Amino acid sequence: MPLQQRTLGQTGLNVSCLGLGTVKFGRNQEVKYSREFTLPSDDEVAALLELANELGINLLDTAPAYGSSEQRLGRLLRNREDWIICTKVGEEFVTGKSFFDFSGEHTRKSIERSLLNLNTDYLDLVLIHSDGNDMAIINSTDCLAMLTELKEKGVIRAIGMSTKSIEGGLKAVDLTDVVMVTYNPSSTDDETVIDRALANNKGVLIKKALNSGNDCPDSLANNFDFVLNKAGVSSIIVGTIDLSHLEANVGHAIKALA
Ligand code: NAP
Repeated sequence: MPLQQRTLGQTGLNVSCLGLGTVKFGRNQEVKYSREFTLPSDDEVAALLELANELGINLLDTAPAYGSSEQRLGRLLRNREDWIICTKVGEEFVTGKSFFDFSGEHTRKSIERSLLNLNTDYLDLVLIHSDGNDMAIINSTDCLAMLTELKEKGVIRAIGMSTKSIEGGLKAVDLTDVVMVTYNPSSTDDETVIDRALANNKGVLIKKALNSGNDCPDSLANNFDFVLNKAGVSSIIVGTIDLSHLEANVGHAIKALA
């Protein structure tokens, strides 16, 4: 049985129900993983992308804040049109530290840089990379207005927000195409957001479905089952730089929906 594809709300995009998170492709400082790691080599990233493609994954999640992740994807990704690329705006990670800028001007420049980094002339999906102040970003910055303008120009196909609060998640569902929320058996607060997205036919991407790898290996299958069978979830974004984990995750995702 192949990996299931799902429509991403009303975006017209079809995404594999498991996407590949790429934080670990480009950043190993100030990350919340339990084990330290070295960045994968170009050959290793290329092999991960090739295997992901072979296994039916078409969704990649990256961000300017993920170190060299965007540049490496731009250099190593083959057949751009086969992939749905999700990147973000708002968070920057420079010399080991994050900072945030949600101004319209920074948003425009960030998108121009992402296009160059990713070696493409369009972005499938751009999410606002929240610093936690979801409502202030939505209500008091020009970030969303700039993303909307760039979507109208055809540079971006869909827009959304990776949120950190329920209130922000609900608002993002109302105002954008896609929301990215945390969801796993021990973190279910965003269920309300997923329910609203389902009711409004908006896309839902899940981050930290494996609790950033902190859950014990025995519970992985259960996490996939739990998340992928939640009505409203479009795709679960799981990060890995391990080929055998990637293959196992696709197996878990297929089994969860069998
Ligand atoms: P996650 O997907 O819950 O966990 C990733 C961790 O789990 C990695 O350290 C990985 O290590 C490990 N892992 C993956 N598959 C495994 C397997 N089969 N067996 C054992 N360990 C496994 O959490 P996350 O990395 O925090 O989030 C996933 C993605 O969501 C990120 O890559 C990113 O794209 C996105 N994200 C977005 C935001 C945001 O604010 N927008 C925040 C966090 C994350 P190995 O490399 O060893 O497999």
